[in-house]
Amino acid sequence: MIYADAAATTRLAQGVLEAMLPYMENSFFNPEGVYQGAVYVRRAVNNAHSILGEALGCQGREIFFTSGGTEADNWALKQFITEKPAHIITSQIEHKAILNTCKTLQQMGWEVTYLPVDRLGLVNPEDLCSAMQSNTRLVSIMLANNEVGTIEPIQKLAAVAHAGGALFHTDAVQAVGHIPVDVSVLGVDFLSLSAHKFGGPKGMGALYAKDGNISAYVDGGGQEMGRRSGTENVAGIIGMATAIKLAMSQMADTTSKICAFRDHIMDCVLHLGGVSVTGPEHGPLRLPGLASFTIESVDSETLVMDLSAKGICVSAGSACSSGTGKPSYVLKALGYSEQEAWSSLRVSLDASLTSEEVSELIQAITSSVKAIRNQRQGRA
Ligand code: PLP
Repeated sequence: MIYADAAATTRLAQGVLEAMLPYMENSFFNPEGVYQGAVYVRRAVNNAHSILGEALGCQGREIFFTSGGTEADNWALKQFITEKPAHIITSQIEHKAILNTCKTLQQMGWEVTYLPVDRLGLVNPEDLCSAMQSNTRLVSIMLANNEVGTIEPIQKLAAVAHAGGALFHTDAVQAVGHIPVDVSVLGVDFLSLSAHKFGGPKGMGALYAKDGNISAYVDGGGQEMGRRSGTENVAGIIGMATAIKLAMSQMADTTSKICAFRDHIMDCVLHLGGVSVTGPEHGPLRLPGLASFTIESVDSETLVMDLSAKGICVSAGSACSSGTGKPSYVLKALGYSEQEAWSSLRVSLDASLTSEEVSELIQAITSSVKAIRNQRQGRA
């Protein structure tokens, strides 16, 4: 099997499972306990806060553990729901965790503006400036898109939001562990991340809140500084902290390796003809490990299934929108036609991929595309 769907999820990085296991075996204690074993576990959880804080350039007390990226996004957006409904700004290419939360807020009387993006998937800070209203409470724009890999100009967007008196959240689920993310450099107030996108366990994530300033999301026994109660997922927390530490220490090497693979894959697939890269071409505006295309005369589901039969795991778009029977709303927002949006392919790489696997992957894509096109021509 060749796994090239790392934007959907990653396998546990080496050493992560080993770091987690003791917290499900001998060190199973509830961190709220007062006896020695529990105090040890409490220290490990506190230390995990510090590790995450260090990775994001903030304090450990500004990190709140969640059940993943979706919960962190929900929390960031729903934190004001006890207030009088106001205005939120987001973009048309956000993950469903944001878009569907916005829908819920709209049902509750909130006004939501969905900013457009250009052909590369970039949000224009001037568009944000024009959309700001006196009652704009929050702006939420993703740091990196999960389908086309576009990295948004968050620093500029956050500055515009602040100048207009709003707070700024970014969904950094696809970015954390893959590119440098420093909350103070970005100037964001809230940031979501998810462990399973960078070699950590599924069902584990975090929300950064500047100065710990956020209302409680889950009431109960007062865990997570009173903001998200419930006995901590200790093994998950340790797994996420171990994975982020690893990802940060290996980032430079991983980036140069997978950027080279990504660019090689993009060049070879482009060579097939009738292919366009979706999102930015090579370079700093694109996530290191994500290559995405539309391929003329090729139905993406057919291609993905054909590659799957060859033992190759890729996707048509995001893990969440494929299988819905609808073409990608992200590609449509980028200005692609419905037909083009049905011909998308996303290849996303992690550090474990070898150059032999990359060659095999390219060969398989090439032969599948040719076979599908031939078949289609035969039918015409
Ligand atoms: N945000 C983005 C950009 C994502 O890509 C994903 C997952 O694909 C999520 C949020 C949801 O994260 P989780 O799977 O941890 O709930």
